[in-house]
Amino acid sequence: MEDVDAYYGQSHILRDLSLHVEEGEVCALLGRNGAGKTTTLRSVAGARPPDVREGAVRFKGDEITDRTTEDISSLGISLVPEERRVFPNLTVEENLHLSDVARNWSNTFGRDVSMDHPGMSTEEVFEVFPRLEERQSQKAGTLSGGEQQMLAIARALKQDTDLLMLDEPYEGLAPQIIQTVEDAIERIAETGTTILLVEQNAVAAMSIADRAYVIDQGSIVFAGDSEQLRDDEKTRERYLGV
Ligand code: ATP
Repeated sequence: MEDVDAYYGQSHILRDLSLHVEEGEVCALLGRNGAGKTTTLRSVAGARPPDVREGAVRFKGDEITDRTTEDISSLGISLVPEERRVFPNLTVEENLHLSDVARNWSNTFGRDVSMDHPGMSTEEVFEVFPRLEERQSQKAGTLSGGEQQMLAIARALKQDTDLLMLDEPYEGLAPQIIQTVEDAIERIAETGTTILLVEQNAVAAMSIADRAYVIDQGSIVFAGDSEQLRDDEKTRERYLGV
């Protein structure tokens, strides 16, 4: 993202925001409530609102600023939103199967969904999330918060995902469940998928991220290695409260 300015109507939210994520890394975007983290992810994913009025968003060198969410998703960018969208009345297996149906449907209607990189199979997803295999016949609405988070991530992985953006995956999860989700994120990163992780839980995010950005009032106020941020007490206290 280069010098991005994004708005909700007249509200100017992202201000001259620049950041980049390297292929294959886990990058964290940290900041307080309302700092603009979700807006950043939505700007990359092409979700509207917000409107990106200045600056550019590029993916693998191509400008994607004004493309539709469908286009952007077909390039291999997935966003798992904070509210963990799963279908509560369908089983785990059916939720996963729906991702396949969506992909095949897109192909049938001529969208460019690259089948040379078709996303994970259900078996591969179960390797990352053994818990989901155990719960495959259970209705998604009856899963715990952590399990629903795993299912939401799993659904994204069934699509062709090169860049996985996770919006507060640890929110509302007990510490031992955070650990399970963290392990899964690490396993996903090992498959070569690039991850942009948005978190308020800075400590947990820094423990798995290679690099971190801190955002405040819509602008980047820190960029560096996670270790640098861990050592930078001033920035942590001022912008993250930890
Ligand atoms: P949180 O952790 O609370 O989600 P965040 O860092 O993700 O925080 P954003 O959701 O990006 O923050 O919100 C940034 C600012 O934009 C906030 O001031 C918020 O009130 C405002 N905002 C978010 N969504 C909308 C919207 N749909 N319409 C108008 N303003 C919005």
